[in-house]
Amino acid sequence: MSKLKHYLLLVFLILLSACFNKKSTLRFQAPQFEKRLVLQDGHAEFSVWEFEDQAILWTYTLGAVPHIDEYRDSLALVLGQEGLEKAIAVEADQSRDLALLEEEQNGADRNADLVHTGTVGHIRPINYLEAFILNYQLGRFPLLGHPTEFHGFIAKHPGKNLVRVYFAASDAPWPPKPRPVMDAMEDDLERGWKLVYHLHNHYCEEDKDYIGILAPSMPDAQYFKMLANRYDLQKALITNAYHTVEIEAKHFSRFDSH
Ligand SMILES: [Zn+2]
Repeated sequence: MSKLKHYLLLVFLILLSACFNKKSTLRFQAPQFEKRLVLQDGHAEFSVWEFEDQAILWTYTLGAVPHIDEYRDSLALVLGQEGLEKAIAVEADQSRDLALLEEEQNGADRNADLVHTGTVGHIRPINYLEAFILNYQLGRFPLLGHPTEFHGFIAKHPGKNLVRVYFAASDAPWPPKPRPVMDAMEDDLERGWKLVYHLHNHYCEEDKDYIGILAPSMPDAQYFKMLANRYDLQKALITNAYHTVEIEAKHFSRFDSH
């Protein structure tokens, strides 16, 4: 190889490597969304977000979630890093002994055992869209100090490449009745939208190490069954800001409900 060719090859490789390095340090483009406020009633907010259905929404890459970061940092201070990691791992565990299920009589605990023995549901990290919704509510009321739960109904339109999130939350520990956004959702379902997920968040009190239980309560299970019957809900999601459990509609009947 002539010196010139060797030199040109070297320049080409340097440029190529600079190009790749630049690409790897570029931040991803945060998905654009539109928010429509359906109703504000005191601290109760009922909104609909619309996103372009980009792959990033369903990945475990999180966008800017300063309120979730703040919550996680505060928990690390309160529980210590080791205590926090242990509490997160306990709630994410799906390898508990199956014998637990046969012994358990209490409905809520049986529901938790169904998930933690790996019998029903799949626990995985919180994803981009779930973190976006949780972060929004934590910006209104911090989970540590003023815990709240929200409703997030997530629908897709097969022909439009769009995702809509029907959101309802207030300043109370339990979410408000979501009727104002259910009306909007029902209209959309009649126009070809599909209710893919219902998402809500769980937290625990101090005596249970704060990290929310990744299993449905008995009223949750009752609600999921209703959503499946009435709106053909495909999956229920419960997140605790670290992990999310996904439960397919065909398994809702396994859970105790009232
Ligand atoms: Zn719940």
